[in-house]
Amino acid sequence: MEHPHIPLDQLKAQVSVCRGCTLADGRTNVVFGAGDPQARVLIVGEAPGKNEDLQGQPFVGAAGKYLSELLALAGLSRDEVFIANVLKCRPPGNRDPRPEEIQACSPFLREQTRTINPQVIITLGNFSTKFILKTEQGITRLRGRAYQAGKFTVFPVYHPAAAIYDRSKREVLEGDFAEIGRLLKTLPPRA
Ligand code: URA
Repeated sequence: MEHPHIPLDQLKAQVSVCRGCTLADGRTNVVFGAGDPQARVLIVGEAPGKNEDLQGQPFVGAAGKYLSELLALAGLSRDEVFIANVLKCRPPGNRDPRPEEIQACSPFLREQTRTINPQVIITLGNFSTKFILKTEQGITRLRGRAYQAGKFTVFPVYHPAAAIYDRSKREVLEGDFAEIGRLLKTLPPRA
């Protein structure tokens, strides 16, 4: 039997009052994620930064602007994908997520994934790739090709924030998004 999933609105209401880890103490807003609840493509980032915490929306700062450009290279707009993060609250000073924070927050991403039921999951950077692919391998090894994880096709790429000021990473990342555009054309349209 299919797993009975929680509607996204209901899940968002649960996340908005979460006190499952200490990040709740420092947040301005929970960043649940945004986009089409029935998207073919789910984008998974790491955690909200300062602008995201202030606005309650994912990828609204410099990395977000670049992410929109990258999506366009794959023939996608922000409205037609769903953008979420591994952590829903901002780590202080944008430090790396801690294992206990990932553990506390991950049921929400798992439920989002089940409910949205995308064809393709694009993981941005190390934390989301390790979480979704359940691997200890780093992003440099894994990026740029598709993996099957259960019924999902997972395509890891560098995190846009890591590539903004690094020209060689930008070229690689932009090539990977062009490849994602080609991959999407080979997949059957959503029923
Ligand atoms: N970086 C992330 O990983 N997620 C955001 O929402 C913003 C920046």
